[in-house]
Amino acid sequence: MSHFAIMCRKCGKELENAYCAFCEHCANALLVTRYKEKKFREKPAEGIWRFSNWLPVHKEAFPQPSPVVFRSEGFAGKLGLEELYIVFCGYWPERGALLQTCTFKEFEAATVIANAMENEIEGLVVASAGNTARAFTHLASVSGFQAVIIVPTMCLGEMWNLEESPSAPTIALSDGDYSDSIAAARRISLLSGMPFEGGVKNVAKRDGLGIALLEAVAGMKKLPRHYFQAVGSGAGAIAAWEMAERFLGDGRFGGRLPALHLAQNLPFAPMAKAYWKKSREIFEEDLDPALIGEITTRVLSNRYPAYGVQGGVFDALEATGGSMYGVQNDEVYRAMEMFEAAEGIDIVPAAGVAAAALRQAVAQKKIRRDEPVLLNITGGGERRLLGDRPVYRVDPQVISKKITDTEIKELLCSLKTS
Ligand SMILES: [Zn+2]
Repeated sequence: MSHFAIMCRKCGKELENAYCAFCEHCANALLVTRYKEKKFREKPAEGIWRFSNWLPVHKEAFPQPSPVVFRSEGFAGKLGLEELYIVFCGYWPERGALLQTCTFKEFEAATVIANAMENEIEGLVVASAGNTARAFTHLASVSGFQAVIIVPTMCLGEMWNLEESPSAPTIALSDGDYSDSIAAARRISLLSGMPFEGGVKNVAKRDGLGIALLEAVAGMKKLPRHYFQAVGSGAGAIAAWEMAERFLGDGRFGGRLPALHLAQNLPFAPMAKAYWKKSREIFEEDLDPALIGEITTRVLSNRYPAYGVQGGVFDALEATGGSMYGVQNDEVYRAMEMFEAAEGIDIVPAAGVAAAALRQAVAQKKIRRDEPVLLNITGGGERRLLGDRPVYRVDPQVISKKITDTEIKELLCSLKTS
């Protein structure tokens, strides 16, 4: 018997066979996992599988390391914070952090793949702006699962793989951004018969991203008062809220949801700009693709984030008394330098966005110096990793978004035989 059910956020209906689906009654509401066990418990297992009571998987299918949580001295001291915890999702072997893809998307990929395998799904089509691609490429090799990865060529410059010749092929879209890659992935999914990963709708994706909070609370023994993270699709933030609700249901970790402090990179900050006006709808002018060219964090450049949907980022901010931040490129670089100087490890620009938002919150006195704060460093240690092992350039098949269905079918055949 399954240890969880999947429920609609809006009407509460329990769904069967809900792989990557929306509720049949409520067109625009996210589904959430309801775990039978209400008490948080770590199982005697390795890595993320210690938390499988609260993950939509039944067995440990392959090894997957967890993030590392520590109480900061260096960065906390610089900010004047008394109780700053850092959940570090990356490669930092001196601290025990062993994610060689250097991103928290590894938790998403591992949970999604394990869940898909249990649902007897043979392969998935995944759209990504970079990190998710690397995580799925790596986990496909680790697990033997099939995946086809779609990325925009504009992101290739920042991309790399751990595998020299990975089992999962990458297809690059020459004339589109991340959002166009999602559209292409949906078409490839229909023509290949392999499901689309589903993005934010996939409960396994969100619960996997929630592992950062699971590990943090396991270490802190309580919920933080404030939680800081950079957002692109919003899935990680929604995941943190959903996971915090489970801890609240347990009762032993505090009686209040952590306030979500979510950050985007200006000038492309559609969720921040909407929330500053308390709007549930994103404004069209804030989605101008030209703005994406100006930001340093392409991985945050999703033009269709899960913001206004029932159970999405807007609701998460409202439920937790949260805030949105906009961070300029120079603030991102400064925060990255400051973090590395204080803690001794490099972090990726998206994590720099979160660190910069924390600096803003302290300067604006949005948080008290004595409150417990959790900073999600969603990626780091890329430079540290290069000292230990080689990484490889991504070698994609390049397509145009004008590709015909026949050409997609031919491409899929050629990928199978190569
Ligand atoms: Zn419903």
